[in-house]
Amino acid sequence: MTPQARQCERCHRTIEQRGPTPVRFCPVCGQALSESQPAGAETSAARSDTRSRTSVQAVLGLILAVVSLVIQPCAFPLGLVSVLLGLTAQKSIERSAGLLVGRGYALGAVVLGLISLIVWLIINVFVRPGHHEYASF
Ligand SMILES: [Zn+2]
Repeated sequence: MTPQARQCERCHRTIEQRGPTPVRFCPVCGQALSESQPAGAETSAARSDTRSRTSVQAVLGLILAVVSLVIQPCAFPLGLVSVLLGLTAQKSIERSAGLLVGRGYALGAVVLGLISLIVWLIINVFVRPGHHEYASF
């Protein structure tokens, strides 16, 4: 860890943090230093690295997408659910500001789920034209 350096708001001197007790006042002009504004941008970087976890929705969506590809008769419900899970996972990952990871899983869930749905559509609509229960809206 580099020593915490901050800048005085009044005289703009750089004040280096030495020792375990935080420097609360500027040694030059006596200005009270704000606690939450260190000069380095370490707060956001440290937060995104230590506490991030993989989105459960993204992983679940990817698993369902793979299952729906393997078990094609289940492709319609499972593929649809995996696409929805992947999309909601992507949104929550974007909103989490680094706390959630797993964009790759979420994208995989959406893409594989869509492929599974398309394969299901091709099989059920084009290959079996006599099977028209779904097309009669
Ligand atoms: Zn000062």
